[in-house]
Amino acid sequence: MSASELPAILGGTPLRTEALPEWPGNWPEVADALNACLSDGSWGKYHGPNCEALTEQLNNFHNVTETILCASGTAAVELALRGVRVEAGDEVILAAYDFKANFQNVLAIGATPVLVDIDPASWQMDVSQLEAAISNKTKAVIVSHLHGGRVPMQPVMESAARHGFSVVEDACQATGAMFDGRRAGTAGHVGVLSFGGSKLLTSGRGGAVMTDHPEIAQRIRLFTQRGNEAYPLSEMQAAVLRPQLERLEERNIVRWDSVRRLSNQLTQLTSAQGDQILRPLVDACPVGDEDRPAFFKVGLQFDPTNSTGLSRDKFSQAMRAETVALNPGFRSLNRIHSKRRFRTVGELPVANHCDEHVLVLHHPILLEGDVATRQICASVERICRHAAEVSATPVC
Ligand SMILES: *Cc1c(COP(=O)(O)O)cnc(C)c1O
Repeated sequence: MSASELPAILGGTPLRTEALPEWPGNWPEVADALNACLSDGSWGKYHGPNCEALTEQLNNFHNVTETILCASGTAAVELALRGVRVEAGDEVILAAYDFKANFQNVLAIGATPVLVDIDPASWQMDVSQLEAAISNKTKAVIVSHLHGGRVPMQPVMESAARHGFSVVEDACQATGAMFDGRRAGTAGHVGVLSFGGSKLLTSGRGGAVMTDHPEIAQRIRLFTQRGNEAYPLSEMQAAVLRPQLERLEERNIVRWDSVRRLSNQLTQLTSAQGDQILRPLVDACPVGDEDRPAFFKVGLQFDPTNSTGLSRDKFSQAMRAETVALNPGFRSLNRIHSKRRFRTVGELPVANHCDEHVLVLHHPILLEGDVATRQICASVERICRHAAEVSATPVC
């Protein structure tokens, strides 16, 4: 058999001979922005034009009245919780399948995380379980839109109004998405963005909190301003974010086109036995004039009953050998923390299922176009064709 037919993990030539696409890649506009920082000295100043200009640009983009820049998305979640008066002894509801730092932030304030399961169709927080999670200590809920999907905000906001808790909307993975005609992160009482090194807008580190409620913004400012700024974003970081924000919309559309193509092609890919090894989450994505998803990761469900006999982790290892950045998703929060730390609603079967079966494709490949999409599918096919030998390779 020729080397070209073997999966890369078995010694074949990777179908994608290019290295993994670089992120953030090459941005002439960012070079210009950094040069401007050098010329006007703002690279080395506490205050300059860039943070102020970015704040205004983010306010306009999201149609909110207040944006507070900060040091990371993780810090932004903490600030958002503090902004809605979460204190020690309170409870904060979040999905059992979510970003680990969100759980840790609740603990950092001295509050208790209350975990609810996720919806089996969308793998996002199951909002129908929200009411069962509420107690007289509930102060807030953290809602994260993950892996290209979305949590329906209307029932969450209705429940919040009925029970008097606040909603922190984590749009770190959905930056620039449109849900029901508004930007992700603007339907809750306070929204959160990340500008971390892998994210759709990046300054290596960084984040922001957004709100239309002046009293929430005021509380956050009181907490961060201690004679000096305690959680700052720098002038230079703000400068490199501005040109990226200008192109976010255009790039989100390119990524969405790629995800649609990829999902169609993957749906047609079946094993010899006729089962579908990868089910794209995109079936549950919002579409329409008022809705457009954004993809930091593309969520895929690995079918554990597939006839190839491959495990998720072996399959993703073989895909990475083809230079496709496909990795296991989050661990479910109930499985990686001591039971003393949190309360749950029920047994969390769907979160536990996702802990074992979700795969996520990292976004940079989505800017590459149709050739890359076909390479991904051809990689899946050839790994499945050689499933028995791939399964027998050592795990690493
Ligand atoms: C990335 C991310 C954050 C924040 O991350 P930082 O790296 O601290 O900026 C928060 N929530 C979710 C869902 C994320 O994906």
